[in-house]
Parts: sequence; C-alpha cells; structure tokens
Amino acid sequence: MPATSDPARLALDLATLGWHILPLSLASKRPLANCTACRNQHGNPTHQADTCPCLAAGGWCHGVRAATTDQARITAWWRREPQAVPGAAAGPSGLVLIDIDAHSGQHPPMLATGLLPGIDLAAEPIPRTAWENPAGFRDGRDSLTLLARLRGGPRPWPPGPGHQPVTAATPSGGTHLWYQAPAEGLRQALADPQGRYGLAWQVDLKAGWSYGIAPGATTTAGLSRSCWAWPAGLPP
Ligand SMILES: [Zn+2]
Ligand SMILES: [Zn+2]
Repeated sequence: MPATSDPARLALDLATLGWHILPLSLASKRPLANCTACRNQHGNPTHQADTCPCLAAGGWCHGVRAATTDQARITAWWRREPQAVPGAAAGPSGLVLIDIDAHSGQHPPMLATGLLPGIDLAAEPIPRTAWENPAGFRDGRDSLTLLARLRGGPRPWPPGPGHQPVTAATPSGGTHLWYQAPAEGLRQALADPQGRYGLAWQVDLKAGWSYGIAPGATTTAGLSRSCWAWPAGLPP
C-alpha cells in the first residue's frame, strides 16, 4: 500500500491501483459540500448525480457519486482543497469495507438475535455460554469473533491470500478491512443499536455507493494506519 502523509499523493497512488477516490472534509470526514447550485436543487427529484453538469465539469458535488480514478481531476481537487482527506468509494472500486467499531455501546435488547443480525443464536449448534453473557461483548471485535466461531474457523471468511484484506487501524481504535467484492449482490448493511442490521453488532458492511476513509489517510484524530498484517484484537 502507498505510505505517505501527503493526502494528494495518497489519493493519486490509490487511484492508480483502481481505487475510486473522493475528497472528504478534514473536520467531518464527510464528502466536501456541494456547490451552491446543487445545494439549491436539494430535494428536486429531477436533479440527479448522473446528469448533474458539475460532475461532467470535474466538480466534487454529490458526494460518493463524484468518486473517480482520473488523475487530472484528483490533482485539481487537492489543489483546491489540499487538506481534504481521501475517501474511497467501495462499489466502484470493486471493494467492500468491513468497518469494525471499537467503542463501548449499548448491547442489543435480545442477544440471541441482535449480536449477529439475521441469525438466531438460540437455534444454532453452539453453546449458550458463547453468547448469553453481555460482558463477553465489549465491541465489534467480539461479535465478529462470535461469527467466526459460528462458521467453525478462526475468521468468518476463508483463509489464504485470496481473502487477505487491506487493513487500517482507525484513530478511534476501530479497524477497517477492505476486501475485493464479489461481482454483484452486496449491499450496505449498517449496524444499529437494536441489532437488526449490519454484519454483526458494531460491525458495518459498506458496499456499493458507500465510502470509507482511504487506508493510509491522516485525519485530525491521527493516522489511519494501513498494513497487510492481520490487526491485533481480532481472531488470529
Ligand atoms: Zn454542483
Ligand atoms: Zn448537482
């Protein structure tokens, strides 16, 4: 992975690798704001990213929909906003982002069905002691470990170099795992406190028109360190 503290350089290097890049605000980590003309069209159903003249003209309007691998466009964006944080659009880059939170939070009201949305743990062939104690689930790392256990391995997905992610330790203590996406069929699934959605409690699946802070990017909170190694705190 590219290693640089220069956001423009990182954006260009990742784009060379086929990552579709968009500029994020240093303060909010959200896409840079639309231009006034697009803001004034907010809520107008006939004003769409597909046909917005700003994108064709090289603007960054419409957030993730502006993401590109175009070197000239990326160069122009960072000349205009040198402090912008590079973000990467998942689907257009052929990637999926597994976003593992590491902050304490409220447990889902029903552990059996809320730790792994879509799975009723009470009906699965694992002992109740594996999931019935809330103290065993500090954050997303523990719920992902449970998913791995349910799948009978140290990780919830197959081992081997074909399933090796680009990982980034985020400044807030979380972990991003960027994987190659399957050809189709993945949709964003964001975890919620009720345990109805997401890959697991405190684990988001970001796919399609989702984006994440690019691995290697520096935010106000610090560096999102990227590496090829498996992150500490997850099942080895
Ligand atoms: Zn615009
Ligand atoms: Zn527009």
